[in-house]
Amino acid sequence: MENITYIAYLISAVCFILGLKKLSSAKTARQGNILSGIGMLIAIAVTLLDKQIIDFTFIIAGIVVGSAIGAIAAKKVKMTDMPQMVAVFNGFGGGASTLVALAEFYRFTTTPEVNVSITLVLSLLIGTVTFTGSFIAFAKLQGLMKSAPVVFKMQQFVNILLFLAIVVLGVLFVIQPSSGLELILVIAISAVLGLLLVIPIGGADMPVVIALLNSYSGLAAAMTGFVLNNYILIISGALVGASGIILSNLMCIAMNRSLINVLFGKVGFDASAGGGEKGERKQVTRYTPDDAVMMLENAGSVIIVPGYGLAVAQAQHVLQEMASLLEKNGTEVHYAIHPVAGRMPGHMNVLLAEANVPYDKLMEMDAINEDFQNTDVALVIGANDVINPAARTKKDSVLYGMPILNVDQARTVIIVKRSLNPGFAGEDNELFYGDKTMMVFGDAKKIVTDIANLLKG
Ligand code: NDP
Repeated sequence: MENITYIAYLISAVCFILGLKKLSSAKTARQGNILSGIGMLIAIAVTLLDKQIIDFTFIIAGIVVGSAIGAIAAKKVKMTDMPQMVAVFNGFGGGASTLVALAEFYRFTTTPEVNVSITLVLSLLIGTVTFTGSFIAFAKLQGLMKSAPVVFKMQQFVNILLFLAIVVLGVLFVIQPSSGLELILVIAISAVLGLLLVIPIGGADMPVVIALLNSYSGLAAAMTGFVLNNYILIISGALVGASGIILSNLMCIAMNRSLINVLFGKVGFDASAGGGEKGERKQVTRYTPDDAVMMLENAGSVIIVPGYGLAVAQAQHVLQEMASLLEKNGTEVHYAIHPVAGRMPGHMNVLLAEANVPYDKLMEMDAINEDFQNTDVALVIGANDVINPAARTKKDSVLYGMPILNVDQARTVIIVKRSLNPGFAGEDNELFYGDKTMMVFGDAKKIVTDIANLLKG
């Protein structure tokens, strides 16, 4: 039986790796998802059979309750709320690792080996930090907490003290792993550490944190795998941990940040302070969909810049229809995708793929940024932070240093959004008041539908 189990684990590990590979391209992502799902099914089935579980009652009850919650949540959660759901998933992943590792400790009949004790402490530390940190990320994304950094005096010092306390407790446990008291204290302190690590991260830096928490949930699972001596948990946890780190790094590169800077440096700036010059409201001219159509009909080239507002309005289908009408009119149309546009990595790609926008029309920021200067119209739909020039010029801005899409270099900029309100980072946008900017206020779906109807007419 043992050999069969190892072979099955090997097959599921191969499924995970191939699945991840396929997930790296929008074309093969669905297949990748299915393949990884099959891998997980094999892993779970084999583990259940192999471990000769005596009583399946709780397992079946857990599967029924968990599947029901999962199915209802998947049906009900709006596409725009997916990031919060991912944050909750990460949190539960970390929490589950903590609980399983702790339960395993209480099952030990002999003194655990040093390596098991170390991974047990690490599992509790990383799992619990992930749990509480993810719920703070959830609260920020859900708007239950302000997205601006929450800081207090000596915050870094307190974090270091908490971490040192965990190290001391961990060492005490590894030396004499008889009492569970150290472990309970490790969990309690890690819970506070998780909160304190995420509250000071605000505004535009959230994508990095979400990717990082995802990675932590994998690392916690891998540590629990060592405690349980379960190879597939170690492999799958390590894969999640590694891919999460790669994603965090990609997000850091996209935002021109260093990971250390996001985690420990950029604290203390209150993003809710926004653009600073409050009260000095500049004039902005309100344009109509008819004005936008006049510009678009005469444009030889248009770059569409989608952002979070497109997802909120669910305007992707009508946007695709509008783009096809422009193309029929002889206009060259492309979409510029900023890596952190929306509220989760790949958000815009998923949204536009759902509307059957051809993949070759979706251009990554680096591939298209030079083209804006030769483009007639940059049509911005519900994007804000990813086009905000404050990222280039305003040193005290939370966005400062993040590469943005060069929409301001296009001959005309049309921005569709409902108001002059700032985006997720809370920073005012000078572009709204620019000479060549046309603000078309309204819900993205309504405005794009109006534009499409006018183009048809
Ligand atoms: P922003 O959040 O900067 O701006 C979105 C804009 O959409 C808002 O200013 C809003 O303006 C507008 N909007 C909202 N609803 C509608 C609607 N129904 N119709 C039309 N417009 C609408 O989005 P971006 O995509 O530009 O930038 C993403 C931000 O989110 C970045 O700061 C990024 O760091 C952050 N983030 C990204 C994550 C990721 O992984 N991609 C994860 C977490 C955060 P108004 O209210 O006036 O309509």
